[in-house]
Amino acid sequence: MKIDLSGKHAVVTGGSMGIGNAICLALARCGADVALNYRKHAAEAEAVAEQVRAAGTKALAIQADVASFKDAQWMIDRVTKEWGGVDILVCNAGINWDGMIWKMTEEQWDAVIATNLKGYFNYIRAVAPQMKERQSGKIVTITSINGKRGKLGQANYAASKAGIIGLTKTCARDLGKFSINVNAVAPGLIETDMMAQAPQSVKDLALSEILLGRLGKPEEVANVVCFLASDLARHVTGQVLNVDGGQFLG
Ligand code: NDP
Repeated sequence: MKIDLSGKHAVVTGGSMGIGNAICLALARCGADVALNYRKHAAEAEAVAEQVRAAGTKALAIQADVASFKDAQWMIDRVTKEWGGVDILVCNAGINWDGMIWKMTEEQWDAVIATNLKGYFNYIRAVAPQMKERQSGKIVTITSINGKRGKLGQANYAASKAGIIGLTKTCARDLGKFSINVNAVAPGLIETDMMAQAPQSVKDLALSEILLGRLGKPEEVANVVCFLASDLARHVTGQVLNVDGGQFLG
């Protein structure tokens, strides 16, 4: 059995780096065309698009801030115009800006919620009408195990990730009768640039929690996203699947 996404058009938010980069390449290797967005890293995003093309499918790298409702609608309209529609949406773009709750600023709170939570709403809202019209579609959101359990110094981030779980389950309910699957993937600690900035003590604590004894790799998250974006998972919706080596059994 093979994951076959040939002829599908995918949009991946935050595809220029880390987990998003791996998701773009994995979707392309399964046969999907991939449009990715980014906010800052244009050269990196273009390099990912080149790698997608090298895998044999079409690619678009588009600068669009996920926190902007207008940008999201504009990007989905552009991809739809060029390729005829969006079959797969992967909401992945995210940031963290940690601080203990007694020191967290309004700016820290607003920035993380706007990117991580509103950013997912913006893209789901933009693709939902056309998926509903076609009575098909796959939406995969990237949350975090910290959205389920909370995390020291991450009130804004954990709240955004918990919000994504509520958003995902509600969209699964709203869109299920139109044969649209909406699921979340909850990674544990994965080796990416976001994590490269984390103190060694955070990585050591994670390693002590992870049953499989090592940090995860972006490709290991991407593989699960491809499965959920495929018809192999057509009877799976409203679920949150941990990809964390057993870091959090909840
Ligand atoms: P990275 O920091 O490596 O990459 C983040 C991506 O999001 C980049 O491509 C960045 O693009 C993009 N991005 C950030 N803000 C915006 C914005 N406003 N508009 C458009 N794109 C934006 O992060 P990871 O790969 O580590 O994380 C990816 C997702 O996985 C996030 O949602 C994160 O919360 C989640 N996650 C990660 C874990 C980990 O251990 N790494 C664990 C659990 C969840 P650019 O910089 O070019 O703007």
